[in-house]
Amino acid sequence: EEAKEPPRIHRLDESVVNRIAAGEVIQRPVSAVKELVENSLDASSTSISVLVKDGGLKLIQVSDDGHGIRYEDLPILCERHTTSKLSKYEDLQSIKSMGFRGEALASMTYVGHVTVTTITRGQLHGYRVSYRDGVMENEPKACAAVKGTQIVIENLFYNVIARRKTLQNSADDYTKIVDLLSRFAIHHIDVSFSCRKHGAARADVHSVATPSRLNAIRSVYGLSVAQNLIKIEASDNDPSSSVFEMDGFISNSNYVTKKTTMVLFINDRLVECTALKRALEVVYVATLPKASKPFIYMSITLPPEHVDVNVHPTKREVSLLNQEVIVEKIQSVVESVLRNSNESRTFQEQT
Ligand code: ADP
Ligand code: MG
Repeated sequence: EEAKEPPRIHRLDESVVNRIAAGEVIQRPVSAVKELVENSLDASSTSISVLVKDGGLKLIQVSDDGHGIRYEDLPILCERHTTSKLSKYEDLQSIKSMGFRGEALASMTYVGHVTVTTITRGQLHGYRVSYRDGVMENEPKACAAVKGTQIVIENLFYNVIARRKTLQNSADDYTKIVDLLSRFAIHHIDVSFSCRKHGAARADVHSVATPSRLNAIRSVYGLSVAQNLIKIEASDNDPSSSVFEMDGFISNSNYVTKKTTMVLFINDRLVECTALKRALEVVYVATLPKASKPFIYMSITLPPEHVDVNVHPTKREVSLLNQEVIVEKIQSVVESVLRNSNESRTFQEQT
């Protein structure tokens, strides 16, 4: 058989490139919510509320009371790679903000209709402007606004037919969004969070700023969780093996459930670490066979140069320098805390 002619190679249109990239950054409604809430946190907000319609496909609205966005910056706000958080590559080593690559808002405008309303301190009115494919659809219009920023995404994936169809057929993202907000709410206890479904009378997540982590856990996950927690702490300062600080809460033997909940923040970023989760599940099975699925909230602080933050925005799995040592140390602290609590309980029951 005769060999086929090679196909010609051509350059893709920029709009095609951008839409493909956007579909990677914003994989589902919950990814958009995560990016928006992280932007609100980066803007020093003390109150963040989320409203969702049709699992996020019709509407996602995130309102905050943060520092707002300058009028002069609105024209480039939703262009790709525009950010206020990073200037030079070296900044990545010490970056404290959750965002830095200036891609989230841009991505949303390539796969949805984005409207921003914002006001900065000392201004008498705010501005509202809508974006499509990275650019403003019109000049910003003056409007009444309270403190901060509100971002609305409508008709997510209106132009990504296959994605819309899969999402419409799968269970709705609202549960995932509630789960996400619950996690943020018990870590950022100085911020009030709310998350509500459009048309619902009450919010599914409703937290008020509190100095007590246990209070926050109680108001988000309920009394049955909060009354069965043990405080844990660990740290290490041996530069040759591992340097870290950890604190958190873990469930005791009275907490019985079918599924592990592990809420993990490393350097204030919400992440997943399968190695650590597995290691702790192993300890529970061995120590508390009846309560083998734990609830765990853990916050770990590491020297910033020990964590690579520059992984793809959707990759929540982290790998840490000296991960094995850290996992082992945390595992042994959890084990001894559980053994102690078990022994003191048995002792109490005997007397
Ligand atoms: P990144 O967070 O990586 O900088 P984004 O596309 O998420 O990129 O946001 C672009 C910029 O828009 C941010 O750097 C920030 O200056 C501004 N911004 C976005 N959301 C908010 C908000 N809720 N409040 C204040 N500024 C915001
Ligand atoms: Mg961002």
